[in-house]
Amino acid sequence: MNRYWSQVAKSLTPYVPGEQPKLANLVKLNTNENPYGPSPKVLAAIHAETGDTLRLYPDPLASRLRAAIAAYHGQIEARQVFVGNGSDEVLAHVFLALLKHEQPILFPDISYSFYPVYANLYQITYETVPLSAQFEIRAGDYLRPNGGIVIANPNAPTGRALPASEIERIVAGNPDSVVVIDEAYVDFGAESVVPLVNKYPNLLVVHTLSKARSLAGLRVGFAVGHADLIEALERVKDSFNSYPLDRLAQAGATAAIEDREWFERTRQAVMRSRAHLTADLTALGFAVLPSSANFVFARHPGRDGGELAQALRQRSIIVRHFKLPRIDQFLRITIGTDEQCMGLVTALRELLEGPQATASTEDT
Ligand code: PMP
Repeated sequence: MNRYWSQVAKSLTPYVPGEQPKLANLVKLNTNENPYGPSPKVLAAIHAETGDTLRLYPDPLASRLRAAIAAYHGQIEARQVFVGNGSDEVLAHVFLALLKHEQPILFPDISYSFYPVYANLYQITYETVPLSAQFEIRAGDYLRPNGGIVIANPNAPTGRALPASEIERIVAGNPDSVVVIDEAYVDFGAESVVPLVNKYPNLLVVHTLSKARSLAGLRVGFAVGHADLIEALERVKDSFNSYPLDRLAQAGATAAIEDREWFERTRQAVMRSRAHLTADLTALGFAVLPSSANFVFARHPGRDGGELAQALRQRSIIVRHFKLPRIDQFLRITIGTDEQCMGLVTALRELLEGPQATASTEDT
């Protein structure tokens, strides 16, 4: 703390992103990045944009990108698309533009840990809704008065997904508030509710290019919804930063959305590896939640989650461990290449066969 800090700065409890270690030769399975690189067409588009035009500001409306996203989803107009510097920024604007009302907002007790951070930043009251004992979201729990609802589907860090029909129950049952569905991981096997945005003016769907399109480093996310919802987001954005997406990001993201073949190939590869990894972990005695994401959430009945994470780290494999109620025995493991997954399984097998790990349970 410093005497120059504002009251706001003093009151914040910031989100702690997963570690981005500088060490080489680490098997990095901790932040749900895609193990495959972006499409070569994305790299070519960024390269083509790298020139004299960088002296000029980018298109503040990101028109080409929004048109490409609208065309990709179909039945959507560009004015129903909002783009931002990562879906984190999109979500931040959503909290201020659409979720700050009198009543508390609702989100699951176990979900993306940025949601309470944004709520605190914008002084939005919230109530958390417990997941079931099997870590499922129960649609019926969200049919009660609220100032808005945020649900990640598939949920993070559990990986469990609800069918679109259950999401629709929540949206249809809350006509007076905005229901935000964060579909960061939807392309790894869940059902998107983007096709419902023309039916429900209170539904906003948020996507990212960081996961299934391998562009975590470019920072691009977007929201799709009724044009009135998008207008509220534009108002906040233009009161904050008119140019959140630079020229390289707009060019690369447009190419990524347009290259459906690369997207299909890589997401299918991740889903195949997930099936193998799930089988291998199960054979080692892990309980693995059914995942529709590019990670699995697993616990071993005989070994402490924090100790396992530490022991893996000593073998240069990093996974995510949350020291939080209900989930502190779980490891969240990003799906890597098959080679990386095999390395992880081999390391776990050795750890489980060896003497009890004695490492401390420092948070990872
Ligand atoms: N939503 C969820 C559920 C996430 O796990 C993440 C990734 N940390 C994000 C949103 C943000 O992704 P990005 O800002 O890279 O688009």
